[in-house]
Amino acid sequence: MSSDSRNQQEIVVQGISASQGIAYGTVFVYLQSDVEVPSYQVDIEKRIEEVARFDQALLTTRQQIAKIQDEVEKNLGKAEALIFDAHLLVLEDQALIGETIREFEKSGCNIETCFNNVASRYIQAFSEIDDEYLRERAGDIRDVAQRVLQNLLGQAENSLSKLAEKRIVLANDLSPSDSASIDRSAALGIVTDSGSKTSHAVIVARSMKVPAVVGVRDLTKKVNTGDWAIVDGYDGVVILNPSEATLFRYGKIQSQKKSFEQRLFDANRKPAVTLDGVTVMLQANIEKVDEVALVKEYFAEGVGLFRSEYLYLNSARMPTEQEQFVAYKTVAEGLAPNPVVIRTLDLGGDKPMASNPHLFPKEANPFMGFRAIRFCLEHPDIFKDQLRAILLASTFGNVRLMYPMICGVEELQRANAILAECKAELKARGQPFDPKLAIGAMIEIPSAAATTDLLAPECDFFSIGTNDLIQYLLAIDRGNDRIAHLYEPTHPAVLRTLKHIIDEAHRARRPVGVCGEMAGDPIFVPLLLGLGVDSLSMTPPVLPAVKYLIRAMKMTDARDLAAEALMLGSAKEIYAKCDAFYRARIALE
Ligand code: PEP
Ligand code: MG
Repeated sequence: MSSDSRNQQEIVVQGISASQGIAYGTVFVYLQSDVEVPSYQVDIEKRIEEVARFDQALLTTRQQIAKIQDEVEKNLGKAEALIFDAHLLVLEDQALIGETIREFEKSGCNIETCFNNVASRYIQAFSEIDDEYLRERAGDIRDVAQRVLQNLLGQAENSLSKLAEKRIVLANDLSPSDSASIDRSAALGIVTDSGSKTSHAVIVARSMKVPAVVGVRDLTKKVNTGDWAIVDGYDGVVILNPSEATLFRYGKIQSQKKSFEQRLFDANRKPAVTLDGVTVMLQANIEKVDEVALVKEYFAEGVGLFRSEYLYLNSARMPTEQEQFVAYKTVAEGLAPNPVVIRTLDLGGDKPMASNPHLFPKEANPFMGFRAIRFCLEHPDIFKDQLRAILLASTFGNVRLMYPMICGVEELQRANAILAECKAELKARGQPFDPKLAIGAMIEIPSAAATTDLLAPECDFFSIGTNDLIQYLLAIDRGNDRIAHLYEPTHPAVLRTLKHIIDEAHRARRPVGVCGEMAGDPIFVPLLLGLGVDSLSMTPPVLPAVKYLIRAMKMTDARDLAAEALMLGSAKEIYAKCDAFYRARIALE
């Protein structure tokens, strides 16, 4: 550590944890600047060469992006690599390329200038469109255009691609190209002022397996290249000019986390049984058919939530009954005899179907709008294709069906009536299905929570969607980072509501699980189990951590924790209790 930084004051900045791990080193502050484009006339006899130069730059750019895409796919998987498809499409955009050539032929100006003019007009036009998806395209075009210009001008890639020494990269934002060009041999960690857990910088950081923290607001303004910092990707913290004491603590934490990860790995194969002998059912949340392999890798007892809308989201049209049947059958067969809960379409809200804007017109309040079961009941043909596909798959494994966003008993009855029609249709066709297919209702709207007793006779099980339930109960948009700190799973209103749902479900002899993110957070797991939930469903990679905790706790203690928490009046106090419970059982060695 330099003597300079030892004399400076330690500053701790809280951001959002984006990629796990801890890095310590000097910072490289990267501020994007647009490429300077010279303008000049091209001699008539050199015009063919000029167009060839443009073709070559497009080809080089394509190769660069494809290379990055391959790397991301290799390290992270297909879904993450898909983000670069939009960039490759820009390079194929005949309007953009054709217009550049036409402008060149008309003006005789060098190709960089023509391309820059056309791209700028496109960016301007896209950024003014009143549609979020199309507005985001402006960013894609800007990013690709900068790369094409760099290639035309023979400029080396930006300064991120050749870091002078091992550095923590700090930027106000990183475009996909920026992120992808980062010198992998020298980047210790990545920090950005803006961004969310799903931004490109994060995807690339995770693929590079380096720690990353995003959302540190205006940190780039406070830091100079060469300053020392710690990036704590576990807790989403950046510490500038760390003191000797902090460095010592972090050195220790890093080795503790490594040994903890090993212990989690060991727990993965063992059963989820508490110290006092209670077995807890742990299931997986999945979105795609190929995640069956993950469910098995993490030893989940089947799927507690199959978000079926992902079959639709990535499709240019509504999938047919047969296509859906094949998908559900593959999952059911792949995981039999374990159960697979297929949730019917939850399109709309944060999940509009981009290829079908007429079915999902823009709404002022999409989270409270025309989504999920509301959409399905209004579009019975689409709904019935899905219901029949689920019924047909039910003979190939342990399939269950669940409706999302149920708001009251009438909605549930209407959905069940349509299901009954589907059963009659399949009977008439002579196609087999499980006549006793279990029906579940998600409890994720406060009105459903308040009427759990009325819903119970119309279904076989409940699953609590805490992600939405909390946002509707506390009136906090779950995707808005300005109010993210107010999204408190331990708010007393949340606890009381959970208790009410669980008690009413059990009174009616209906099992009740949790499939929102709370179920996969070890800090909240004892509270949920103590309140009486019967199963937890979570994204597969968090299963070992939850299992490890369950194996280190007693169910009687969890019940005491829930009873104490219910008596407390603030989210902070309840959180502190849960945190203490967790830490006492996960003592790092
Ligand atoms: C939930 O709301 O908790 C839930 C599991 O559903 P989704 O996250 O898909 O809205
Ligand atoms: Mg939900």
